[in-house]
Amino acid sequence: MRVLFVTSEAYPLAKTGGLADVSGALPLALRRLGADVRVLMPGYTGTADKLVGARVDATLGDVAGLGDVRIIAGRMPDSGIPVWLIDCPSRYGRAGGPYQDADGREFADNAERFALLSHVAAAIAGAASPLDWTPDVIHANDWHAGLVPALLPAAREGRPATVFTIHNMAFQGVFPAASFPALGLPDATFTPDGLEYYGQVSFLKAGLRWADRLTTVSPTYAQEILTPEFGFGMEGLLRSRADDLTGILNGIDDVVWDPSTDISLPANYDHRDLAGKIACKKSVQLEFGLAQEAGTPLIAFISRLTDQKMADILPQAIPALAAMGAQVAVLGTGDPAIEAQLVALAAAYPGVVAARIGYSEPLAHRLYAGADILLAPARFEPCGLAQLYAMRYGTLPVVRPVGGLADTVTDATEATLAAGTATGFVFDAPTADGLVGAAARALELHELPIAWRRVQLRAMAEDFGWSRSAEAYLALYRSLTGPVDDDEREIAPETPPSAADRAARA
Ligand code: ADP
Repeated sequence: MRVLFVTSEAYPLAKTGGLADVSGALPLALRRLGADVRVLMPGYTGTADKLVGARVDATLGDVAGLGDVRIIAGRMPDSGIPVWLIDCPSRYGRAGGPYQDADGREFADNAERFALLSHVAAAIAGAASPLDWTPDVIHANDWHAGLVPALLPAAREGRPATVFTIHNMAFQGVFPAASFPALGLPDATFTPDGLEYYGQVSFLKAGLRWADRLTTVSPTYAQEILTPEFGFGMEGLLRSRADDLTGILNGIDDVVWDPSTDISLPANYDHRDLAGKIACKKSVQLEFGLAQEAGTPLIAFISRLTDQKMADILPQAIPALAAMGAQVAVLGTGDPAIEAQLVALAAAYPGVVAARIGYSEPLAHRLYAGADILLAPARFEPCGLAQLYAMRYGTLPVVRPVGGLADTVTDATEATLAAGTATGFVFDAPTADGLVGAAARALELHELPIAWRRVQLRAMAEDFGWSRSAEAYLALYRSLTGPVDDDEREIAPETPPSAADRAARA
């Protein structure tokens, strides 16, 4: 089964959020099941330097008038997964992140930049592929790769099957109609029945409209997006395709996220011996400038500072959390007004509240490990990975019952505590009071060390690895392709990650 996995970011090459974690880990899990998965993504500034064995594999010349392209082949530094980077300096060789400049402004040509990603995927899939490989399936992710099915022939004969995964309905890749002529799309696609969305161009709609199958990243979110509250205007189209839509829960990379081996941590630990977690707490309190008190509960928030994550109500909740005797450590970046409020709160509550505005992968690992409680509230949450990392690190999450949060966290109630199935704290109202109320329940349980330990161990024991979900994706691919003759195809042997690999991944 040959799968071209098309994405705008993949850890450890480029990451702004959960999509990168999925794009780093799912291809590896699929490969372990025998699928020949290759990742296709843009080569941003510095990305090729992180590849192992990078070499120019093909020169495509000008692609659809969008830029001169070379394909750079290499392997992921950690997992060895084959990667093709689209080398197009005029589109991708810039300061800043994958989507924004260094000042946080969206690049003006993002429509062209990501149309190029889909054009290259379609070129690889075609009869005149520039590479010595063509896919049975193209797995396109999020709006950035939404045009892929619009660029392939409509008839299934002679083209790969397409799977389109929605990682977040809130991001749709909507651009002015004036951008359409430059995107190299057939004119006939710009209709209300196609990728036109209220007079604009919607990359997401193209994926939803034309991919053979649709998936999203949790079973609950797959239901939610059929409703106006969560569908962001696409609920009608999604309902018309409900038979082709499945929710497959994201997993986590349990090599990168393993408290017993994580080299970012000052001490390692596992469910048998949590002493290292206490050392992690002490160390992270020091790192954040919090009072070094082992008994004081430490509440963390590690997230994009956006309305989705309810970061706007966090500043209202923090004084109440401090009044209940907790410390609060925030690691995040996003809305500048929220950033400023958090910095002001840290100044007002020295030693009790700390805010690190920025993005740091190793610091995130240390805070997941050192905290007792993670606030992971959300107005909507396709899957959410933060709560999964927290649970694996014995840090109990406080969440709302939406999307993947509903599918992965079991509220600590009298019944679930008695049954030993509780793994966190769930609240309904998307308000500061709702959040503080659930955090108060967490703090009460934290006062009872034996009960707390029981919930912690249950959370750490949950299996959030990728293998089950990777099997579900493989079954979905197979349902589209029928049998493919894998015996005649060579799949690079998998080698387990070495200590050096782990270091590179951290
Ligand atoms: P989303 O993709 O919507 O942002 P997820 O929970 O699915 O939310 O994934 C977020 C990922 O980004 C997690 O790996 C989380 O640890 C990481 N993350 C978010 N903010 C930061 C930050 N400021 N520093 C380091 N990691 C962060």
